[in-house]
Amino acid sequence: MPNIVFQHADKRYDERAERYVFRDLNLHIRKGEFTVLVGPSGCGKSTLLRMIAGLESVSGGDLLFDDLRVNELPPVKRGVAMVFQNYALYAHMTVYDNIGFGLKIAGLPKAERHALIQDAARQLQLEELLQRKPTQLSGGQRQRVAIGRAIVRKPSAFLFDEPLSNLDANLRAQMRAEIAELHRKHGVTTVYVTHDQVEAMTLADRIVVLSRHGLEQFGTPDELFDTPANLFVAGFMGSHRMNLVPVDETHAQQLLLLTGQSTGELAAAGIGTIGARPEDIEVVDGSAASVQLVERLGAESLVHFAVGGSLTPLCALSTDRSIAFGQARALRVPPHKLHRFGPNGQRLAP
Ligand code: ADP
Ligand code: MG
Repeated sequence: MPNIVFQHADKRYDERAERYVFRDLNLHIRKGEFTVLVGPSGCGKSTLLRMIAGLESVSGGDLLFDDLRVNELPPVKRGVAMVFQNYALYAHMTVYDNIGFGLKIAGLPKAERHALIQDAARQLQLEELLQRKPTQLSGGQRQRVAIGRAIVRKPSAFLFDEPLSNLDANLRAQMRAEIAELHRKHGVTTVYVTHDQVEAMTLADRIVVLSRHGLEQFGTPDELFDTPANLFVAGFMGSHRMNLVPVDETHAQQLLLLTGQSTGELAAAGIGTIGARPEDIEVVDGSAASVQLVERLGAESLVHFAVGGSLTPLCALSTDRSIAFGQARALRVPPHKLHRFGPNGQRLAP
């Protein structure tokens, strides 16, 4: 079970292309770790997984499994198993044969194959379905077969590319728990791509945040949530987007409400943007903010407040069900909950 390490790695799809998907990427995925990759569409999440699997070449630099450079190692020799969003099952084969296919190709004797398939089927609750074809299964069952096919090979690493995004919310939550359980039981190094914040936060030991510019931050869910390294991560992580208020005259009243300081004072302190999570904003009595929109989420509401002349509202989470459009309130944030970023977008020490 290896550490997976990118050292000064580059990736571009076309030798002549200007655009690099990755440029000088350095990333150390620890052995046994559950690492989640997040980032906007097109930033290179699938590309990164496919490089680890050996399905895409590395254009420059090194990819190491522990101390072994694997840039040129063919996929079958890497000992990694990949699970895709679209399941990629063989339609004409039964569940049993789908799960056992890789073992058959690898030349494993029938009896050993049978034992491994039965064991995987038991773990994934597929025992009753082994003689069915993929078309006779639900989405969740198909994804279980795809996972079964991966685990019977006893891989040294699992790669998942948005495996649950075709499932409905209930099933997704259930499969999420099963994947967490599999990892807990086997401790296999896992790299998992998702665009679902809850999946990322709940499954990950550490999260890699990628943007079109490459690696933005690599840290535990708590580190990313509590101390985002820059404006990109601040705006990207969290189920409710962080309020990010630029330090300029149009936002003077919002800034005053959040920090108690004037635009001039904040700018003089080298601050370019103030951040406050909706979860950290308290709604109190007062008149500085007027309710523009209330989004009911069940136990809580996301309330949009207009403050001063700024066109962007400040959003706060509140459990107060009496809040309604047009009302006036004031907002308060504990000072230690504020995030400060420099004009270059990097996080400033508190
Ligand atoms: P993500 O999975 O984060 O959405 P991808 O890794 O699929 O992103 O793609 C990263 C970038 O590489 C995108 O700009 C995409 O258009 C480009 N790309 C992906 N696959 C290929 C390919 N086979 N040939 C050329 N460009 C590709
Ligand atoms: Mg992708």
